[in-house]
Formats: sequence, structure tokens, C-alpha cells
Amino acid sequence: MSENKIEIKSFLYLGNAMILTVHVFLLLFFAVTRVTPMIFVNIGSLLTYAVLFWIIKWEWTRMYIVVTLAEIIVHMLLAIAHVGWGCGFQYYFFGAMAMVFYTDYFYARAKLKRVNTMLFSVICAAAFPGALILSHIHVQDYVLGEEIAAVLTVLNALFMFFFAVVCFWLLVSKATFYENELTRQATHDKLTELVNRNYLIEYLQRIYEEENMAEYWLAMLDIDDFKKINDTYGHNCGDYVLKSVAALIAENSCGMTPCRWGGEEFILVGRMAEHRLQGPGSASFVMEKLRRAVEKYDFRYENREISVTVTIGLSRYEQGLGVDEWINAADTKLYQGKQSGKNRLVV
Ligand code: GH3
Ligand code: MG
Ligand code: MG
Repeated sequence: MSENKIEIKSFLYLGNAMILTVHVFLLLFFAVTRVTPMIFVNIGSLLTYAVLFWIIKWEWTRMYIVVTLAEIIVHMLLAIAHVGWGCGFQYYFFGAMAMVFYTDYFYARAKLKRVNTMLFSVICAAAFPGALILSHIHVQDYVLGEEIAAVLTVLNALFMFFFAVVCFWLLVSKATFYENELTRQATHDKLTELVNRNYLIEYLQRIYEEENMAEYWLAMLDIDDFKKINDTYGHNCGDYVLKSVAALIAENSCGMTPCRWGGEEFILVGRMAEHRLQGPGSASFVMEKLRRAVEKYDFRYENREISVTVTIGLSRYEQGLGVDEWINAADTKLYQGKQSGKNRLVV
């Protein structure tokens, strides 16, 4: 079962248990106040919610929502008819609407059959004044004391506000979570967890517009003889090497932004202050340190030792260079490094 479906089922079980508990309280309340018709209505409601546990189990999710909403509206109209408008049963409209919109969002995500939220909203919008008119033209059968009615109003309102707030809170937190997750998927590489090519291109465009590019450096890093690693040890081992190299890059990037450019190629972009052309903290120092870190790292896959090295082309931003030209400049240096024996940094 998909994660979305499990989430919907848990929410429906929880919601059903909450509504059932409320009906137990209402049953006790109407028994104490001797509103006999509402005792029968509540027994009917309790039986309905008991059966709805099975409906949830069988995943008849749309039927669950339709039956629940019908029960809420019928129960509310009957309660208003019997004990009047002044007991707060009308608040159940708002809780029910919150529930409908919340479940609709998750049904859409799980690609389940959805309920028509607009139709339901119109029914609620019509039923609300309908119930008010009903309470005026129909003389209520039972007159509860003012204090009892006030207590019931407060309890009904509190429960419905609580229920609606839970629905809205869950809706916003889940929607925000999924949105962040989608953004992450669109901007990050799944295997290495570094940012991807799309992200880097946008990042470069942004710094071109906003920053003083004179202080920027761009390094292109390529794993040496990676095809041989794949051919000798298998594709899974190749993935292990990619992940490990990416982790070393992230660890040794010293504030530069590391990206998986594609295949076994990575790009690092970062700002290195003017006085840091050489020596600790300079772009070439950082890249040479990274190259050595890869060379020295103990790559091991299924107890087999693998020798891995990288070649790096490093290019400082020059006035007037476009993004592609800058990347090409680093690529040209990388090519020179490959031609002159690999496992080296070319600046
Ligand atoms: P050079 O030293 O000149 O860079 O040679 P190379 O073998 O590293 O380069 P080449 O371009 O010939 O081969 C790169 C290989 O990387 C080919 C491709 O199948 C492999 N590759 C690309 N993406 C992935 C990946 O996600 N996982 C694995 N395992 N291999 C990949
Ligand atoms: Mg390579
Ligand atoms: Mg390559």
C-alpha cells in the first residue's frame, strides 16, 4: 500500500474514533436530559460509525466521506429540530468542511476517487440557513435549561474548533513538507545528494546578476578511468565510488558549492577572496587538497580495494566570460590534465 494511502487510513481511523467518542458523550447527554428521539438518533449514529471502521478497512474511502458527511448533516438538523439553535450543533458544518477539504487533498495525492468539495460546500452553505429557518418555524420539542444549552454550545464549539484546527494544521504541514520534498527532488541528485545541473545553472545565473564575479572560481572534476571501475567491479561499485567521491567533495569544498554535473563529472563554484590566489584558503590549495583526499581515501567494495583518482580543471572568472565559456575554460583545463597523465590539478 502506498504511503499516502496508509496516511489517509490512519487519519480516517483517528477521525472516526474522535467522532464516535463525541457521539458517546452526546448519547449520555441526551439520556441524562431525556431527549428520547436524540437518544435513538445517537444510537443510530454510533452503529453507523462502528460500521464505518470496516468501510475504512476495505478502503471504500469515498463512501466513508459521503456517509460521514450525510450523518453529520442529518444529525445536526435533527438535533436543531429537537433542542433548538441555541445548543451549538450548527458548528459541526465547519468541522465537516475542514475534514472534506483535508481528505480531498490526500485523495488527490493518492489518486483515489475524490468527493466533490464544491458541491459539499454548497450543501453546507444551504443547510446552515436552512437549519436556522427550521429552528424558527419548527417549535422545538425539548427545552433545555439556559445553562445546559450554554454548556453544550461551548462543548460543541470547542470540539469543532479543535477538529478543524487539527485538519488545517495537518493540511498545511503536510503540503509544506511535500512541497519542500519536490523542490529538493528537482534540485538535487538522488545518488550523491549534491545539487544537480539545473540548480547549478540557476545558481550561476543568480551570482552573475548579483555578485562581483571577479572573486569567483569554478572547478570541473572528473573521476579518472571510471568506465574501467564499472567494467571491473560492476555498476553498483561504480555507484559506491560516485557516492564516496561526492561525500569527499562535500567535505573538502571549503564553502564552494559542489554539484554533480552529470555522470562522473562534478563542478565546484565559489568565491575566493583576491588575497587568496595561493596558499591556504586559495581555490587551488582547496582543490589540490581535495584531489589528495580522493587519492588517499580507502575505497573498498565487497572487501576489494579500489584505486580512485580525480583530475580537476580550475578556472578563475575573467571579465566578460559567459556561463558556458567559463565552464568550457575549466573543461579545457580538465582535458589538459587528462592528456598529461590524469590525477592532477590544472589551473
Ligand atoms: P576518463 O579518465 O578519461 O574520464 O575516462 P572515464 O572512463 O572516467 O570516462 P568515460 O566518459 O569513458 O566513462 C564514464 C562512465 O561513467 C561511462 C558511464 O557508463 C559511467 N556512468 C555515468 N553515470 C553513472 C552512474 O550514475 N553510475 C555508474 N555506476 N556509472 C555511471
Ligand atoms: Mg572520467
Ligand atoms: Mg567524464
